[in-house]
Amino acid sequence: MSERLKTTVLVLGGGPGGYVAAIRAGQLGLDTVLVEAGRLGGTCLTRGCIPSKALIHAAAEFAAVRRARDVGAMGIRVSGEVSLDLAETLRWKDGIVDKLSGGVGALLRRAKVKVLVGWGVFSDAKTCVVTGADGAQTIIEAEHVVLAAGSESVELPGLAWSADILSSTEALSLDALPSRLAVVGAGYIGLELGMALGKLGVQVTVIEAQDRILPQYDAALTAPVVKALERDGITLHLGGLARGFAEGKLQVDKDGQTIEVAADKVLVTVGRRPRTQGYGLEAMAVDLDGGFVKIDDQCRTTMANVWAIGDLVGEPMLAHKASAQGEMVAEIIAGHHRRFDPIAIPAVCFTDPEIVTVGAFAQAGPEIKSAVFPLAANGRALSMEGAEGGFIRVVARADDHRILGLAAVGSNVSELSGEMTTLIEMGARLEDLTGIIHAHPTQSEALQEAGLKALGHAIHI
Ligand code: FAD
Repeated sequence: MSERLKTTVLVLGGGPGGYVAAIRAGQLGLDTVLVEAGRLGGTCLTRGCIPSKALIHAAAEFAAVRRARDVGAMGIRVSGEVSLDLAETLRWKDGIVDKLSGGVGALLRRAKVKVLVGWGVFSDAKTCVVTGADGAQTIIEAEHVVLAAGSESVELPGLAWSADILSSTEALSLDALPSRLAVVGAGYIGLELGMALGKLGVQVTVIEAQDRILPQYDAALTAPVVKALERDGITLHLGGLARGFAEGKLQVDKDGQTIEVAADKVLVTVGRRPRTQGYGLEAMAVDLDGGFVKIDDQCRTTMANVWAIGDLVGEPMLAHKASAQGEMVAEIIAGHHRRFDPIAIPAVCFTDPEIVTVGAFAQAGPEIKSAVFPLAANGRALSMEGAEGGFIRVVARADDHRILGLAAVGSNVSELSGEMTTLIEMGARLEDLTGIIHAHPTQSEALQEAGLKALGHAIHI
């Protein structure tokens, strides 16, 4: 026997795109059902942003204690064994995930959203059959469908997922730390996890097909990260193509030769692809565009009243973009006039040091006024020992000084992303940035100083 349900809005996927869409739809009084096969919070909350940042934080704390023992930094002395109880660390990380996922459930209940746990498959654009773990089926008919099915890790030929070939999901829940880990792909996910595991004592080797790490950034921004990889003893093979793994050796084609990288586990982080299969998308008459679901600037698909958001619809595949689209779609369904037209979407790479970029941060030329302010001249960065090689860059139009892009590399610079994005979204000019009094001592003063430097009169350099 299957249950039948009719609803105004059906959201498929409970990640940061889908759950935000559902909460907002519920707040707006729309009868809403959310279907999620796994845990509320999706990739971001359960196997992405949050657990990875928790692991990165734990690894940094562990490395700091080890450093205090080995080097005695800042006069702090630690003696004896510094050890890690991995099971306890993972319990702590999972506790954070549990708290947040439970919180999302409570918010959905408050917004009167009905949550169905199970895998949804569409038989046509507005009808979805949800099968729960116990096999019970619910048939949902909806006026509006919001597709928020997210993305999945890309598998490499020759390196099929197994007990030894891991995606980021498995790397975040290891039973035991491998002695040696090969990371294939030096994008942000591979480097964030590789650096964290390196700090926990794993011998890490990174293999990247391109001739540089983090290819979305320029060399100046990545140079401090390259230096930190050296500091942490992480080996980097650029221009290397991983081909296969056998008997504890990863075969890598590099410079016309095959080299072998000894590894107990291999972490493959070569990208994520939109999840477009396994739930009847082909029955919905929805067009694709380069593998992503095709949408317009209101997140409408090519089928009337079917909407799509988040990783499913294109780059940047970031949680905050998914949430912004989810909120907007709910409001459009409720009759509001909205378009998805951000001037800038911030991106943060949580390596050590962190990189944050917003807008056209790499522009150069005679029509551009740009400046770089080193964090070595910022009191707060120095007091946190986070200054090394770090800087803030401002890029503005030469004629009216309007800020086009901002970038920073350094410890904890992710916290500057809010101000950076606000400046660009509000159409601020260099004079607006430099006229704002910034709290002392904070790294935000370096942002102000970068603006002053672009105007030709920095104070602290
Ligand atoms: P998802 O979060 O992927 O959610 C989709 C949900 O849909 C899933 O829970 C899935 O179970 C469900 N689903 C799919 N199909 C069905 C179906 N047929 N029936 C039922 N349920 C279904 N982004 C950031 O902004 N900052 C970061 O620091 C960051 N770090 C990351 C670290 C890692 C290791 C990874 C893997 C990703 C990271 N991301 C980060 C990316 C971020 O997780 C994604 O951009 C975000 O989760 C996308 O949200 P979404 O709602 O589109 O999809």
